[in-house]
Amino acid sequence: MTESYVIIGDGIAGSSAAETLREEAPDADITVITDEGEALYNRILIKEFAKGKMPEAPISIHDGSWYEERDIELELNTHVTTIDVDGHEIKTHSGDVIEYDKLLVATGGTPTQLPVDNSDAEGVHHFWTFQDARGIEEHASEADTGLVVGAGLLGIDLAAICGAQDVDAKYLMRGDCWWRYALSEEGAEIIHDGLREKGVEPVFQSGVDHFTVDDDGAVTGAVDPNGVEYDGDFVGVAIGLNFNTEFLRGTGIELDDGIVVDEYMQTNVEDVYAAGDLTQFHDVLLGEQAQNGSWGSAKEQGQIAAKNMVADAEEAVFEWVSSYSITHFDFPFLSFGHPTQGDDYVEQKYSDTEWRRVVFKDGKVIGGVLIGDLAPQTKLKKLAREQRDLTGQKEVLLDEELDLDRLDAPEAEQ
Ligand SMILES: Cc1cc2nc3c(=O)[nH]c(=O)nc-3n(C[C@H](O)[C@H](O)[C@H](O)COP(=O)(O)OP(=O)(O)OC[C@H]3O[C@@H](n4cnc5c(N)ncnc54)[C@H](O)[C@@H]3O)c2cc1C
Repeated sequence: MTESYVIIGDGIAGSSAAETLREEAPDADITVITDEGEALYNRILIKEFAKGKMPEAPISIHDGSWYEERDIELELNTHVTTIDVDGHEIKTHSGDVIEYDKLLVATGGTPTQLPVDNSDAEGVHHFWTFQDARGIEEHASEADTGLVVGAGLLGIDLAAICGAQDVDAKYLMRGDCWWRYALSEEGAEIIHDGLREKGVEPVFQSGVDHFTVDDDGAVTGAVDPNGVEYDGDFVGVAIGLNFNTEFLRGTGIELDDGIVVDEYMQTNVEDVYAAGDLTQFHDVLLGEQAQNGSWGSAKEQGQIAAKNMVADAEEAVFEWVSSYSITHFDFPFLSFGHPTQGDDYVEQKYSDTEWRRVVFKDGKVIGGVLIGDLAPQTKLKKLAREQRDLTGQKEVLLDEELDLDRLDAPEAEQ
């Protein structure tokens, strides 16, 4: 009998799984379901579209013919509402029932709203889809003043969009610096200078108490917790994601701020797998559950899940050091692994645009942040993959020219 595979979500995790499934199972029935109105596009590039710098066409990755050529059924504009894991079937918003032998959930997340008054006012933008980017581009191109909230990797995209669209913007941050969980003030100062150069002013020890609106309900600004009022007819909020798992409640699939899977992308329920941003996966390098919000990691997870779905065995292991780069400034920026976790770190500033932090857990590299000089990334990621114990030699990783030969040989070679 022909196996049938159903994938919910046509982001990079779902789509890469579909591609791998077709390679590994040439005769299987494969269905991909998405509630978006368009097939896979490059989510990383939608910020460049929103800056007004890029046309729509190159952002699209797959069109209808990609699915036809591979005999993959694509269901657009279709929201999955329930799963019956015993009956091996799912139900869509229009009442259609689709049966599966094996199911992959790759539904990612939805941006979290600020829990303050008027956070749903017209002109307050959240950023995840191409549709969001179209709305942001249109509004930012005509706005005079802007406010950005959320001092992390997505918030800085909204700030850069304001800069590129000549919106006079303030970036309201709760702490003393941008991405304070991964950078010190010294490292973040490089980012702050980069923002100022783009016309975006960072404001520290701030945030939003409530948004102000006009008579038509459109946002006009925000009042921060200190009572200071800021103008903003354009607002961008990026304070995190709510994972799209509501339709899994009551199924017995283990949830914990996402879907819990092992290193094979299997959930605790037979024949149900998960991949991408929404997984709480067993990280074999870290030795504990972890989460990654990055394109490369989601792609790899989709492929790993697909291989194990076809093999019906624990064949392929997800063993990955993720990376995430920012390209808004004259200097490059890269974070890798889990830079906000760990029990120790070393860091150094080399110049006005160069800084490095390497993060450790139990003496082993688990992540880091590189600003200005990305040359050490390959070596640092190699150390993270090898899980070498570097107790007593952590400072070597701050050498401007990183030379791994300066480290003691790994134990097995001694
Ligand atoms: C603006 C922006 C910039 C980014 N920049 C970078 C970057 O520079 N580098 C990097 O590594 N990463 C970046 N990322 C993150 C990266 O895009 C994500 O990690 C990756 O796209 C996650 O892929 P995914 O397939 O897990 O989820 P998603 O891409 O979120 O796909 C999930 C899909 O499932 C659909 N869906 C959800 N629920 C249902 C349902 N019930 N029924 C049907 N369909 C459903 C959703 O609509 C969506 O299409 C960026 C993200 C954004 C938004």
